[in-house]
Amino acid sequence: MLDGTTAEIRERQHLRVNPAKTCQPIGAMYAALGVNKCMPHSHGSQGCCAYHRSQLTRHYKEPVVATTSSFTEGASVFGGLANLKTALDNIFTIYNPDIVSVHTTCLSEVIGDDIPMIIKKATEDGIVPEGKLVIHANTPSFVGSHVTGFANQCKAFVTYLAESSGETKNVVNIFPGWVEPADMRELKRLAAGVGVEFILAPDTSDVLDTALDGEYRMYPDGGTSIPQLKAMGDSFLTVSLGPLSSKPAAEALEKKCKVPFKDLEIPYGVAATDAFIDALRLAGDTAVPKELEKERGRLVDMISDMSQYLHKKKVAIFGDPDHLTSMVSFLVEMGMEPAIVISGTPGKKWEQNIRNICAPVNPDVEVRAFSDIHFLHQWIKNNPVDLVMGNTYGKYVAREENLPFIRFGFPIMDRVGHRAFPTVGYMGGMRIVEKITDAMFDKRDREDPDHEVELVL
Ligand code: SF4
Repeated sequence: MLDGTTAEIRERQHLRVNPAKTCQPIGAMYAALGVNKCMPHSHGSQGCCAYHRSQLTRHYKEPVVATTSSFTEGASVFGGLANLKTALDNIFTIYNPDIVSVHTTCLSEVIGDDIPMIIKKATEDGIVPEGKLVIHANTPSFVGSHVTGFANQCKAFVTYLAESSGETKNVVNIFPGWVEPADMRELKRLAAGVGVEFILAPDTSDVLDTALDGEYRMYPDGGTSIPQLKAMGDSFLTVSLGPLSSKPAAEALEKKCKVPFKDLEIPYGVAATDAFIDALRLAGDTAVPKELEKERGRLVDMISDMSQYLHKKKVAIFGDPDHLTSMVSFLVEMGMEPAIVISGTPGKKWEQNIRNICAPVNPDVEVRAFSDIHFLHQWIKNNPVDLVMGNTYGKYVAREENLPFIRFGFPIMDRVGHRAFPTVGYMGGMRIVEKITDAMFDKRDREDPDHEVELVL
């Protein structure tokens, strides 16, 4: 399928081929779904909303509910005030959410719609029922990516809702970053294991991985509640996971309610999970339970058992900056060699950070922010690797180059495990080691000559 890709690399400034990112409102929609009884609302054309919902539905294999301002030519010329007011009226009348979270699209941003003014007008006109809330986030897709959209939405929940009563509570806020529902559940298990009281926001567990019980619920049981979002301003600490996806919300909360924050990486692998557990342990003045220590030991044991197969294996990996920072660190922990690291999201600081992480094992790592999967493919043609990691779109590269492929990141549309099993924490680390070794051994079992096929590895 990609047999036309050549090894000759030409520098491109104004063209992306097979981008390694998607647009901001998808992230805003995902974050909004992590709030209980929240309706994400796309202020733009129906096409944007349909695309964003379908991408999330394909990844999570759950019906993703969101509404749209349904722009047509009129709104494109005269602005979307009337459309948004009508939409809010319909949403509260028909779907009865507790909160509507409006995010913008390219079109409404180019028009320059003043969303706070429209929300104010709708409230004054009695369209927003008593006790219901409407908030907004600006998510223009001609800048940033789905990750910055997620971050902007999380920040909006803080700026609109978090309150400080003046009485600090013995609670830690955990901002999980863009991770899977299974990861959010795992973060909660780890935090409960350490014995701290916490608020996780947003929380898509039990929203996008609900049990099938025969009953459809437009608003599933899960999600951070509005009282919890308000109470975040009284917590004594925020632990924010992922500098790009979580830190803006943590900074906003510090500014608004004076809640200090610890800025950590998403806990993939041993060191990042240690840092997360340690931050909670110190915050709660608690001890790490024996069971978590054993989990950590089992992960270290598995890495040690498999190190002879992983050592110096070259990896090409692409995806979102926060995911990549943690996963590249984990690959280095395992003794592997990240050879090319690509993100579609812009970020020079992130590039340098990845170079620093890789310096001990591969100072020549090729790192590119705001790049694409086509470049990754061309680079592989010039510098062969042993493994490719990335979202579903990477499978064509892996197929063309006959390489083992680990699905990782967003979107994954052709497998189901990502939403069911955590990648974070020690248990998640074991799953990653399992997936990498399985994929590499499967290739050897298929292709090694008969006299080299091993029964026992
Ligand atoms: S890039 Fe802009 S116009 Fe296209 S789907 Fe995303 S928000 Fe809509």
